Amino acid sequence: MCTTYLCALVIQRLKDKGFTIEGYPRLIRLNPFARFKTRGNGGVSFKFPKEQFKDHDLNEAKKIILDAVEELAMFDCDNTNPGVVFYDGEITEEMEAFAYKALHSIITIEEAEEFAEHIGAEIHKFKKGRGIIGSIASMSCKLTDYTYELLAYRLKENRGTKRHIDYDSVVRMDKLTDTFENIDGDYLAIEPNTPCPVLYGIRANDPESLKKAQKIVINGEEVERYCIYLTNQHTDMHLEDARDITSMKQYSSYIVEGFVKDKPHTIEGGHLFFTLGDESGSIECAAYEPTKDFRKIVARLRPKDKVKLYGGIGKENTFNIEKFQVLKLNNIAYRNPKCPECGKTLSSAGHNKGFKCKHCGYILRDSSKILYEISRQLKEGKFYETPVSARRHLAKPLVRMNLSD
Ligand code: ZN
Repeated sequence: MCTTYLCALVIQRLKDKGFTIEGYPRLIRLNPFARFKTRGNGGVSFKFPKEQFKDHDLNEAKKIILDAVEELAMFDCDNTNPGVVFYDGEITEEMEAFAYKALHSIITIEEAEEFAEHIGAEIHKFKKGRGIIGSIASMSCKLTDYTYELLAYRLKENRGTKRHIDYDSVVRMDKLTDTFENIDGDYLAIEPNTPCPVLYGIRANDPESLKKAQKIVINGEEVERYCIYLTNQHTDMHLEDARDITSMKQYSSYIVEGFVKDKPHTIEGGHLFFTLGDESGSIECAAYEPTKDFRKIVARLRPKDKVKLYGGIGKENTFNIEKFQVLKLNNIAYRNPKCPECGKTLSSAGHNKGFKCKHCGYILRDSSKILYEISRQLKEGKFYETPVSARRHLAKPLVRMNLSD
């Protein structure tokens, strides 16, 4: 079951019983390379103003939440290991540090349990209860940058059937509102490609744009409920500055600088690879098949180009590129001299043996390759990113980077 739907439903049930929630619920995405994660590896949380518990029963609120998890979680799925955490108090620095760790490395269930005990939080584990990690991280995550996402949910009887969102209405919404990642060519990016309860999700920097956008989109079906989340999506919060290549760890995400060491090459399945190097060492970098045309851009890189890569190191120990900036292009190339007799390009006569003309037989002993400048289809200083269809929730799109170009 989709965690955000559960959260939206729970909030409705709480409101129906007279409870109030402060601000928007949070949808916090964690380390995209965590091994036992759910698909989006996110945790949701929300805050109760405490005054209401003078005349409302806190235990009733807790029961509504826990009952909803019992009722809706799909416990027969191996990957469903929900957890619920109740915490009373201010968010401390060590809680922020816990959330930071959940974004950048791996936290075990045992570690999360110990931490919950340490901060005096009440935990409820369902099956393995892995969800307690995301729950603590969701409430604790310090949001130095954030966005909002409006999620619209489908009626139960429509879930799993084809969605009929009107494409032109989304194009119109994209033009008229301050939202992003709505469409990508023919691809309707607001529509999930899974049979989850979400009808669509719209992203923006502010909630007002979302409310405006929602009125423009033509759904093609009745919406069961909407919910706006405050989120760390599209912020690059999962990335850390890497000191150098060798200091990077597997299952973490970084911003790293280096030089292209070999010509990018494609392997079976359409995945593109090249090696990035610096004084400390080197790492294999990849633009996988789902990144589509982004691979064509990566393929324009040449050895000795200096680049800054954004991405993370996954299961195969390769660096998955989310976006990159060209720092310095190597525009220098060498070619063989031309034949002084017939004008054709000479061939090498062997190592240190000069050149010979295959056409007229002319031999040129004392000469070296000629340096020339080539024009490139990449621009120094410019950023290039994966298409919306292949982009991670956490990756900050270029439209949010306030680039002058
Ligand atoms: Zn010749």
